[in-house]
Amino acid sequence: KELVIAIDGPAGAGKSTVARIIADKLGYVYIDTGAMYRALTLKALNNNIALESEKELSKLAHNTDIRLAKQGENNIVLLDNKNVTTEIRSNQVSNNVSLVAKVAQVREEMVSLQRQMAKSGKVVMDGRDIGTVVLPNADVKIFLTASVEERSERRYQELISKGEEVDLEQIKTEIIRRDEIDQNREVSPLVEAEDAIRVDTTKLDINQVVQNIISICQE
Ligand code: C5P
Repeated sequence: KELVIAIDGPAGAGKSTVARIIADKLGYVYIDTGAMYRALTLKALNNNIALESEKELSKLAHNTDIRLAKQGENNIVLLDNKNVTTEIRSNQVSNNVSLVAKVAQVREEMVSLQRQMAKSGKVVMDGRDIGTVVLPNADVKIFLTASVEERSERRYQELISKGEEVDLEQIKTEIIRRDEIDQNREVSPLVEAEDAIRVDTTKLDINQVVQNIISICQE
């Protein structure tokens, strides 16, 4: 059976890692919606757009071409045809993306693109509002969580392995702040869908989480 799989949850719960592996295993397309908000944030920062200006951000979203593509084995993000896959993971983007993502018209633009991409089915889409807003009829809805300590530790390890100099406490503060904005915004806040299945990954490794979700998909 061809499924539409939605995976939501807070920052650092492992959504993108797990979603990518599941998509590969099932031969599905992986759609990283966070990458789209990140790409728009990068453009706003590069163009010195005031992040408090909803009007400016809405205009920017309307005039920006964001695409997710496959380059060989890799998922890449194209911002106005430029590959920004690495750039959108910077700390500066991570720390500002929630301000861009809370703008209603920005979300409208992104959600309409996301629905287009999911049309053909056989997709794994991850984000914050996929099961609640973007794809309320998804066949499988997963809410992936982990303790804030665990999520901070994972993000810390990830940045360390990239050679970045980071402070664990600071990362924790940033993650808590980002979650707070995502959970308390007026449009499409981060909440667990009523019909989602919650998977707590705090004490699980990636393989266990993947197996867990695959077996949910086979039910
Ligand atoms: O998933 P990732 O951490 O890359 O997402 C970055 C940010 O994009 C989130 O903190 C959130 O503010 C926003 N986002 C969103 N809705 C989505 C996906 C991401 O608001 N579906």
